[in-house]
Amino acid sequence: MSAGSPNFVKRFCMISICDVKKKYKTGRKSFYALDGVSLEIEDNEFIAITGKSGSGKSTLLNMIGTLDSLTSGSIFVDGEDISKFSGRKIAAYRNKTVGFVFQSFYLEPGYTVYDNVELPLILAGRSGRKNRPLVLAALESVGLSKKVKERAHDLSGGEQQRVAIARAIVNNPSYILADEPCGNLDSANSENIMRILADLHASGKTVIMVTHDPEDAMRAQRVVTMSDGHVIRDEKFVTEDGQEAPPYAELFPGNPFLAG
Ligand code: ADP
Ligand code: MG
Repeated sequence: MSAGSPNFVKRFCMISICDVKKKYKTGRKSFYALDGVSLEIEDNEFIAITGKSGSGKSTLLNMIGTLDSLTSGSIFVDGEDISKFSGRKIAAYRNKTVGFVFQSFYLEPGYTVYDNVELPLILAGRSGRKNRPLVLAALESVGLSKKVKERAHDLSGGEQQRVAIARAIVNNPSYILADEPCGNLDSANSENIMRILADLHASGKTVIMVTHDPEDAMRAQRVVTMSDGHVIRDEKFVTEDGQEAPPYAELFPGNPFLAG
């Protein structure tokens, strides 16, 4: 990444999803939204989870993020079973280990861009002037350093999603969990978001992105396809001579917001 962008520190860790099931009840009927999912995710992978609507993609991502509880199975992150986390441990995990990006941004609309991005730092107990360089670096990496004082609701959808990404990375998490990050955006803005995710991957992050868009899924190095709560395919892209494909950001260098 170019000068001025955040200097992310690479941390070694891994996700191990073991026979995870999630049962939902609607009325008297119950069914498994996840029906025995096992998956190993290496450090610094860029992985796309794809599949039809209702196949369990968001449920799986929410489990990795501890936003939802498991019916059975376990998820190890860094060797710790996060499904056993509670209280302060869950709060710390959500705040520092993972960074979330959602389809509908979930910004505080009346807050400024700066205040939205600073929020995770404040929740982590950090306040004051020391936050400023962190917030500005996160905003610079998504090309929004000139918009710090604007209110979130005055920004375009593409800009709002970039603020949401800055908020997700401000605490330097190891994992970026993105659920249909381009779902509400036009193709030009989607391209911007995909490039930012590819750059984050290149800077050492593990990126796990849920998408139903095959073009977006192609940006990852690995595509996991789900159907009816099962993983039905798990593919890694390779080059013609069988080598693991280089990250997208290496093939197409340059964050459009940092160029020039
Ligand atoms: P996807 O993200 O692949 O579209 P989801 O993971 O959101 O799918 O949902 C998987 C299945 O679980 C769907 O059939 C959905 O309707 C169901 N589901 C998701 N959340 C709940 C819930 N809170 N209560 C009942 N059913 C749910
Ligand atoms: Mg979903």
